[in-house]
Amino acid sequence: MEDCVFCKIAAGEIPAEKVYEDDLVCAFKDLSPQAPVHVLVIPKAHYGSVTDGVPAETLKAMFDAVAEVARTTGVDATGFRCIANTGADAGQTVPHAHIHVLGGAPLGESLA
Ligand code: IMP
Repeated sequence: MEDCVFCKIAAGEIPAEKVYEDDLVCAFKDLSPQAPVHVLVIPKAHYGSVTDGVPAETLKAMFDAVAEVARTTGVDATGFRCIANTGADAGQTVPHAHIHVLGGAPLGESLA
């Protein structure tokens, strides 16, 4: 999709520190990390959010990528949080489906 920053990252048109990539998804470090490990997992195709008709195969690929990122960053050993902000009240700022993977330190009881 034109003018979507995550589409441009997926296409390699703007730089990002990618930590995982396959045919359907890619994962890259968040520009403004909220934890020692803060990675975003996105579908390469454009969907406005995780509930915007993402095909089951792609959702599975996203969660497989979450598991791979957790393994390669080491947070699978200590625990991590997955967040998919969806819509305005959740504070979604980029309208391209994504899952935040946060970890590397105790995250407290906050849901965000
Ligand atoms: P949201 O608030 O759930 O939509 O999360 C969007 C996330 O994308 C935020 O944590 C931003 O820091 C992150 N972000 C926005 N632009 C970029 C970028 O160009 N590279 C990496 N992360 C980005």
